[in-house]
Amino acid sequence: MPFDILIIGAGPAGLCFARSMSGCGLRIGILERQAAPTLAEPADDGREIAITHHSQRLLRELGLWTRLRAEDIGTLRDAKVIDGNDHDGLLFHHDEAGTNQLGWLVSNHAIRSAAYAEASTQADIELMTGTGVAALHTDADGAAVHLDNGNVLHAGLVIAADSRFSEARRAMGITADMHDFGKTMLVLRMQHDAPHAQTAWEWFGTGQTLALLPLHDPHTSSVVLTLHPARMRELLALDDAALGIAMAERFQQRLCAMRVAGPRCAYPLVGVYARRFTAERFALIGDAAVGMHPVTAHGFNFGLLGQDTLARELRAALRGDQPCWGDAPLRRYARRHRLATRPLYLATQMLAGLYTDDRGPVRVLRKLALRSGARFGPFRRLVMSGLVGERGGVPLPLRILHGRA
Ligand SMILES: Cc1cc2nc3c(=O)[nH]c(=O)nc-3n(C[C@H](O)[C@H](O)[C@H](O)COP(=O)(O)OP(=O)(O)OC[C@H]3O[C@@H](n4cnc5c(N)ncnc54)[C@H](O)[C@@H]3O)c2cc1C
Repeated sequence: MPFDILIIGAGPAGLCFARSMSGCGLRIGILERQAAPTLAEPADDGREIAITHHSQRLLRELGLWTRLRAEDIGTLRDAKVIDGNDHDGLLFHHDEAGTNQLGWLVSNHAIRSAAYAEASTQADIELMTGTGVAALHTDADGAAVHLDNGNVLHAGLVIAADSRFSEARRAMGITADMHDFGKTMLVLRMQHDAPHAQTAWEWFGTGQTLALLPLHDPHTSSVVLTLHPARMRELLALDDAALGIAMAERFQQRLCAMRVAGPRCAYPLVGVYARRFTAERFALIGDAAVGMHPVTAHGFNFGLLGQDTLARELRAALRGDQPCWGDAPLRRYARRHRLATRPLYLATQMLAGLYTDDRGPVRVLRKLALRSGARFGPFRRLVMSGLVGERGGVPLPLRILHGRA
């Protein structure tokens, strides 16, 4: 019997979408290349995901939030942006937003594990693991998905959630804008003698960008360092003790002594935006649709938003006795998700360029942007409302530069 919906990729976006569509009377399949035990207990990939208030609400609705352990959740109370050697930077205090915190920090592997546990307990979701997709074809009658193991699955609708380098997107002939920033990003859990005070840092230094993401323990943070690949290779060649000293120096000893406390995970920085999000009986979600540069911490937040938008459109079609694979709900999803993500995707590209350009005039421009942001009260309130707002808000550094709602 064919699936009503077949999802390719059991990452956070694919699993959350399956959970969102569960209970509609449909037969839902998820196809994943990795093995089931790896999905149940994913390896620590170093990523700490900054969760907005809107995303936290969606995670609650999907049943994921209650599956997280208290020690998996860090409080993001305040945030500051530092430029060059400035000492204090621009502080965004939670009080100004009228909430008791700006957001949360949750490990990516904890989100993946919670999403897998939740999806695998739903009777209408069938997980097929340990096999990838060899070929894919859709037409007016349905979709045929040819697996690596030679089997063929049939479905009414195929949803691709198979990462920013999506093979399903390519198989459907959908092109994507890709931007390689030519930098490497290291994410590393570190202990430090000075407490983090639940404050995130985004620090644009000369030749490097640093971020500090406060975790559950007051003396442990996730450190994110962006460097030229050759310089990153030199740094990664150090042993743990030397790396701790090197990172403390990069942080100008502001956190006192620092020690490595987790795996070293390095990622090439590539932004991806699909030219189309849908085709006949086919849609892209998660990073396969919009693969953000992590500087603005919005990739998963957008993935969660997108799967929710698509699920709402499909559920509305079903309530109106329309098939969920119809053209109209897919087109509405594509339009809404493009509107929600395109401006920020483009602004993030620009921001990433501006804040990694160390030429004199550019440094002056960003210093001016930060100083005017620091003084202008209404602007600060706008930033805060966006950070905690209903739709998840615009990431902090973007608002500083553009002053947009
Ligand atoms: C360093 C870093 C920090 C980040 N920080 C943040 C943050 O603070 N906030 C935020 O919102 N986002 C952040 N992100 C982004 C976030 O991690 C991603 O947006 C999110 O993980 C994407 O989820 P996904 O399900 O779309 O894709 P993925 O997590 O890439 O999952 C794709 C799945 O598809 C499977 N797959 C691939 N190809 C096939 C195939 N052919 N057949 C079957 N299965 C297949 C893969 O095995 C995988 O399980 C960060 C990213 C990085 C790199």
